Amino acid sequence: MKKFTYLIPKSTDEAISMHESHGKRAKYIAGGTDVIVKIKEGKLSPDYLISLKHITSLNQLALNKETGKLHIGALVTHGMLEESSLIRTQYPILHDAVTNIGSVQIRNVATIGGNLVNAVPSADGAIPLIALDAKVEFYGPKGEQSEDLIRFFLGPGQNILERSEILTEITVPPLLPNTGSAYIKFGRRAAMELPLLGVGVLLSLDEDLKHCVKARIGLGVAAPTPMRAMEAEQFLTGKAIDEDMASEAGRIAAKESRVRDSIRGVAWYRREMVSVLVKRMGLMCLERIRDL
Ligand SMILES: Cc1cc2nc3c(=O)[nH]c(=O)nc-3n(C[C@H](O)[C@H](O)[C@H](O)COP(=O)(O)OP(=O)(O)OC[C@H]3O[C@@H](n4cnc5c(N)ncnc54)[C@H](O)[C@@H]3O)c2cc1C
Repeated sequence: MKKFTYLIPKSTDEAISMHESHGKRAKYIAGGTDVIVKIKEGKLSPDYLISLKHITSLNQLALNKETGKLHIGALVTHGMLEESSLIRTQYPILHDAVTNIGSVQIRNVATIGGNLVNAVPSADGAIPLIALDAKVEFYGPKGEQSEDLIRFFLGPGQNILERSEILTEITVPPLLPNTGSAYIKFGRRAAMELPLLGVGVLLSLDEDLKHCVKARIGLGVAAPTPMRAMEAEQFLTGKAIDEDMASEAGRIAAKESRVRDSIRGVAWYRREMVSVLVKRMGLMCLERIRDL
């Protein structure tokens, strides 16, 4: 493996200034589960690795009781999310996703920020956060900026971050009452394998617990970037949700998906499974709302 200099800044400003002075020869590293693999495979060869791990302001996980917003620091690991009772009880869609990422060892070091910045269509962390209407906050030479997560991804491995910019935080707006959510990573094995599909659904019902006031459907590996099935979301909104409605939403989402053939699965099968899994996750949301 090529030798590199490992730099340990203590603040985002220090990290950015290091990155600016070394330019293209520098690369940020968080948990390193993507970066180190790429260096070993010869796909990356930075002279400087700038570790973000010692910037403590980036690893906070908290619900702001005044605003109702959830704040997830970019350095929060999948393991921290998995262990959090707040995430397990209030944001089960995110809990479902992180508990199936890699192995315990991977989850203990891999970060949610690294998962998003890596920007692969199969990123398990991205789909639930899209369904939760998350925003990403980032900081760099141009100062602080914010963007909807759904606009963060530009293509496989590409995102909107510019040189030296650091993803600092993910924020999730308050949940509506009577909200249920669920995610499934679908593949031959649940862990240690890239999924064939990732499907996340969030439903909010009105007081009668029948009519849908908000629907979000996030799909992974169904397009070059994580996507939302907006036509299916619109179809569900305002409707009394039952099994038939969930089936129809699945069919609409499947039509919207832009799945393609790959070594892991053929497009027609993926499309079929979008339909099946959107329905299944929709019904799981109803079950979870009933259990609230
Ligand atoms: C064995 C194994 C199994 C895996 N299984 C899964 C899986 O099931 N599901 C899944 O989605 N992924 C999986 N992954 C991929 C990986 O673990 C995740 O994408 C992980 O969340 C990446 O986080 P990290 O902190 O390790 O990122 P790093 O490797 O440290 O960084 C990834 C990229 O993001 C950049 N970066 C990191 N943090 C920031 C930041 N805050 N600001 C700006 N740039 C930043 C780095 O420069 C790099 O380009 C697996 C990886 C391995 C090795």
